[in-house]
Amino acid sequence: MRSFVYDQPATRVIFGVGSLDRLAEEVKRLGARRAIVLSTPEQRGDAEDVARRLGDMSAGIYAEAVMHVPIEIARAARDVAKQLDADCYVAIGGGSTIGLGKAIALETGMPIVAIPTTFAGSEMTPIYGLTEGGIKKTGRDRKVLPRTVLYDPTLTLTLPAKIAGPSGMNAIAHCVEGLYAQDANPIMTLFAAEGIRALSRSLPVVVNEPSNLKARSDALYGTWLAGTVLGSVGMAIHHKLCHTLGGSFNLPHAETHTVVLPHAIAFNREAAPEAMRVAAEALGVQDAAQGVYDLAARLGGPLALKDIGMPAGGLDNAARLATENPYYNPRPVEYSGVRRLLENAFYGERPA
Ligand code: NAD
Repeated sequence: MRSFVYDQPATRVIFGVGSLDRLAEEVKRLGARRAIVLSTPEQRGDAEDVARRLGDMSAGIYAEAVMHVPIEIARAARDVAKQLDADCYVAIGGGSTIGLGKAIALETGMPIVAIPTTFAGSEMTPIYGLTEGGIKKTGRDRKVLPRTVLYDPTLTLTLPAKIAGPSGMNAIAHCVEGLYAQDANPIMTLFAAEGIRALSRSLPVVVNEPSNLKARSDALYGTWLAGTVLGSVGMAIHHKLCHTLGGSFNLPHAETHTVVLPHAIAFNREAAPEAMRVAAEALGVQDAAQGVYDLAARLGGPLALKDIGMPAGGLDNAARLATENPYYNPRPVEYSGVRRLLENAFYGERPA
């Protein structure tokens, strides 16, 4: 019989082609006067466009966001915002830029308007990360949840296939783990299944027909669903492993998710049959682990940890780190099983 807790924080979401045109109105709606625009150096052009759209309400641009939110960058951004007398952040970009906004919001409580341009889903979560002295710490705090999210699929048109594919697989990972989360609930299960459906049908088109806006819109719709799942229910072995591999071996985030996901699903296959059934149905396949592997292959991979910088000599250590602290997973997490999972992911074999 069902039993669950449903406690969903609210974010205002504006979705659709042209939603960026509503930016100034949305910033005003928050009661803000001056917004500082955040981006990576690569997306400075997008930040400039956003600043133009804000007109008088633009306090300036801080285009120094980088992966994993180094604390020095977060502090510098916060100081610049103070000097510029900003009372709101507009973060345009992927998880790295939105993560920078969150790190600042954690300290200042200033509202964030997020304009995601990848499929990572960070804009819908109260999860933040900060790297200090080479160690990335993550936490949850509703203070960092963006108040408003503008999803404009047009902004993803510039996302190259090699970033779009892994980024979309990262979103699918949120959905799959949401299906077997310890605190899963029926609404998030619906979101997760619909997210897998939308992403798995759209991503091959996104990668093969870069200018297909309808497919980009569908993938961004899946991203919204996936991000909501990630923000609402707990994750399990897959996210734990990716976090360990990223943190300890400096592997690229979305690519690590792409490689590990089929093997994490295979690991949990017998322990979470209902989640596997829902995931397989949403993917339109018999077996979720094989279906996800085949999808990653169709998107151009990567498929093997050895191809994204993982040293073979690090597998024992990674398995040890990932099993050190007990955490929820449908199948008990023990060293030998996790070591095997990592070995399979290292060579990138299709799950049996
Ligand atoms: P990213 O933000 O690091 O972006 C990757 C690169 O793509 C950057 O150079 C960026 O400028 C560029 N880019 C982004 N959108 C583009 C576009 N439309 N066109 C051209 N270039 C574009 O990548 P990501 O995968 O979105 O984010 C990864 C980070 O986000 C990781 O640090 C991860 O831990 C974090 N993350 C956090 C959460 C959360 O809930 N807190 C969720 C998912 C990911």
